[in-house]
Amino acid sequence: MDFLEKLSIQPANAGVSTGSEWLKSKGERIDSYSPVDGLKTGSVTAADEHTYNQVIDKAVKAFHEWRMWPAPKRGEVVRQVGEALRTFKEPLGKLVSYEMGKSLQEGYGEVQEMIDICDFAVGLSRQLYGLTMHSERPLHRMYEQWHPLGVTGIISAFNFPVAVWSWNAALAWVCGNTTVWKPSEKTPLCGIAVQHIVATVFKKNQVPEGVNCLVQGGRNVGEWISHDTRIPLVSATGSTRMGKALNVAVAARLGRSILELGGNNAIIISKDADLDMALLGALFGAVGTAGQRCTTTRRLIIHETVYENFKQKLVKAYGQLRIGNPLDTANHVGPLIDKDAVALYLQSIEQAREQGARFVVEGGVLSGPGYESGCYVKPCIAEASNDFPIVQHETFAPILYLMQYRTIDEAIALQNGVPQGLSSAIMTLNMREAEQFLSHAGSDCGIANINIGTSGAEIGGAFGGEKETGGGRESGSDAWKAYMRRQTNTINWSTQLPLAQGIRFDL
Ligand code: NAD
Repeated sequence: MDFLEKLSIQPANAGVSTGSEWLKSKGERIDSYSPVDGLKTGSVTAADEHTYNQVIDKAVKAFHEWRMWPAPKRGEVVRQVGEALRTFKEPLGKLVSYEMGKSLQEGYGEVQEMIDICDFAVGLSRQLYGLTMHSERPLHRMYEQWHPLGVTGIISAFNFPVAVWSWNAALAWVCGNTTVWKPSEKTPLCGIAVQHIVATVFKKNQVPEGVNCLVQGGRNVGEWISHDTRIPLVSATGSTRMGKALNVAVAARLGRSILELGGNNAIIISKDADLDMALLGALFGAVGTAGQRCTTTRRLIIHETVYENFKQKLVKAYGQLRIGNPLDTANHVGPLIDKDAVALYLQSIEQAREQGARFVVEGGVLSGPGYESGCYVKPCIAEASNDFPIVQHETFAPILYLMQYRTIDEAIALQNGVPQGLSSAIMTLNMREAEQFLSHAGSDCGIANINIGTSGAEIGGAFGGEKETGGGRESGSDAWKAYMRRQTNTINWSTQLPLAQGIRFDL
C-alpha cells in the first residue's frame, strides 16, 4: 500500500491541525478499518475540547488576515491546490477507494471533482459580483457587495470522503472565509491525506496558519461546531437525522447552515424511453458505489406497458454484476462501509418483505475468499408499493424498488411522493412528458434530469435538494453566495439629505 506513504499517512496520526501545525490532543483514538479487506489501515486521535477551542480561535484570527487578501490572490492559492491534487490524484484516489470501498474509477473521479471545483473557484475569485441599482433619490448611488462571512464549519459524510469537503473549502476560501473540517469518523485517513496536501501549498504561499483546519472526531465534535457562535456558517452533509439535529442547534443561535441530507431518488421509465439507455442509467444509479450515494437510484417507476420487459432486462443485468474488491477494475460493485451498514441492509430487506415487497433479485451477504471483511452484499430488486414505510425511507444500500404507472401525472405524483427531494430523472423521447417533468408541476427535487440517471452530478451546477434533503446548495452556479454576507450600500453625493419614499423631516 504505497499510496499511504505517498500521502504521509502513519499507522497513528494526530487528528487536529490548524494547517501545517498538528496539535497534541487527549481525544479518543479512531481506528480506520477498510471495508475492502477488513484490515486496520491506521488511526487518528480525535479533538478534545481544549484542542478544538485552540483550532477555532486560530481560525477566527486567521480570518481577519485572510479576508484582507485580494480575492484573485486567494484564487491563485486555490489554483495551486488544484495542481497539487493533480499530482496526488493516483494515491489519493486509491485511498478513497480503499478506505471508503468505492470503485477505483470512482475514487479517481472524486479527486477529479476536487480538481474541477478548484478550477471553478479560481474563476469565481474574479467574479464575486454584486448588482448596482438606480436610487430613487437624486445624486445617490446604490449597490451591493459581498463580504466574507468568517469561519466555515464543514461536516462531511463517509460516502464522499474528500469531494464534499472540496466543494465547500474551495468556495469558502476564495470568498475569504477560513474553514474547519470534521470528516466522517468512518473515513478519517482521507482527511489526514488532504490536510497534508493543502498544507504544502499554503506554506509555500505563506497563507496564515488557521485558514485550513481539521478536527477529527465523531458526532460530539460535530455538535461542538453546530453550537459554536464563533462559526457563522456550518455546511453539513449526512443523514436527515443528523441534519434535523444540527439545524436546530445552528438555528437556535441564528447561525447559517447549508444542509445536504438524504435522498430517495427515482427514475421514471416511460413507454417512450430508449430502454437500453434506461437500463444502463438505472443500473449504474442503483448499484454504483454499492448504493451508497445520496443520489443513488432507489426507485424505478415504470410504465405498465414496458414493465415486464424492462424488469426482465434488469434481472438479467443484475445477474452479470461482478461483486468484489473495488480496487480491481473488473468489478462493478464493492463493499458497504461497515458491518453496521450490512446489518441495516439485512434489516431493511426483512422489513420490505414484511410490508409486502416481492423480491425478483434476492439479496444476501457474501462470504468466502475475497469477502473476508463481511461487508460485501448482493444488490437486490423488489417489486413494492410507494407507500410502504420502508420505501419512504432512505436505506443506504443497494436495494431497488420497482413500481408501475399508467399516466405521466401518476408517475410524477409517485416520484414526488416521498419525504426527500434530492435527485430525479425521466427516461423518455417524448418531448411533452419531458417538459412536464421539468416544469413547476413536475419533479419537486433539486436535481431533475432527462435521459440521464439520478447520480453523477457535475460541479458546474448548484448541488442539493428540497424537503428532507435540507434545501442547501453547494458547488457551482451561484452557490458561493451562501458563503458570504450581502451588504447594500447607498452613497449620497449631493448637498441635500433627501429621505426615501419622499418623507420630509425638516427643522
Ligand atoms: P451521518 O449523518 O451518520 O454522519 C454525517 C456526519 O455528521 C459525520 O461527520 C458525523 O460525525 C456527523 N454527525 C452525526 N450526527 C451529528 C450531530 N447531531 N451534529 C453534528 N454532526 C453530526 O451520515 P453518513 O452515514 O456518514 O452518510 C450517509 C448519509 O449522508 C446518507 O443519508 C446520504 O444520503 C447523505 N449524503 C448526502 C449528500 C448530499 O449532498 N445531499 C451527500 C453525501 C451523503
